[in-house]
Amino acid sequence: MNKKHVREEEIIDFLNGDTEESENFKIEEHISECEQCKQLYLFWQEALPTGNETIPSPFLKIRVDKRLKRGWLQKRQIQKPFAVAAGMMIIMIVCLSLPDLLRQSVTTEPKYEIFQNSEIKDQEIFVSNPQVEKQEIVPIANNEVNGEVWVNNETSEILLELYGLSGLDQNDHQLWIVDHQNRAKGEILMVENGTTRVLYRLDDLSHYKFLKGSLEPLGGSHQPTGPETFFVTFE
Ligand SMILES: [Zn+2]
Repeated sequence: MNKKHVREEEIIDFLNGDTEESENFKIEEHISECEQCKQLYLFWQEALPTGNETIPSPFLKIRVDKRLKRGWLQKRQIQKPFAVAAGMMIIMIVCLSLPDLLRQSVTTEPKYEIFQNSEIKDQEIFVSNPQVEKQEIVPIANNEVNGEVWVNNETSEILLELYGLSGLDQNDHQLWIVDHQNRAKGEILMVENGTTRVLYRLDDLSHYKFLKGSLEPLGGSHQPTGPETFFVTFE
């Protein structure tokens, strides 16, 4: 094999039919044996307009030189199928996980844990935490319910201390936490001597708008129905 590479100009001339008959054999032979020149030949074969004998613009030439330096011409043939396969994989993954994503966005409900009275083990730590904001609860109408609320924005915990919860024969005091979709989740308050303590551990405080109390039929309700007793907002 002729060790000397075919010059790029020669390849272009060859493709344009401008090379001497005697040269053609040497060029063909070299191209058939030299991968580098073959790729250059194949590139120009693709890039040159057929039947047009003008030399390509300097811009195109620079691009080709850069591609040669990076080994782009050699890789180009291999990368194409890989890129297509990778693209198809991504499409497949998106299609397969789409029902999951949709279902999640529809059914994901805010989650929390709730503890009352003696279930609350660490209220002192919570109350004395400097990160915690203390608020007074806002009673509604002539209600005797009063109390305090501690909100820890960092841990998404809320501690409530309520007083003046009168003993009721026909009703239960129920506590509701309401999220930004106006979904209320209720908990019957375990009242002891007119007081109760409730600790919420929320997944994310920012999902919620407010807490409120209401009077519900004995055993509680799924949604707030009775007269409201107090309000706590944490927005
Ligand atoms: Zn060569």
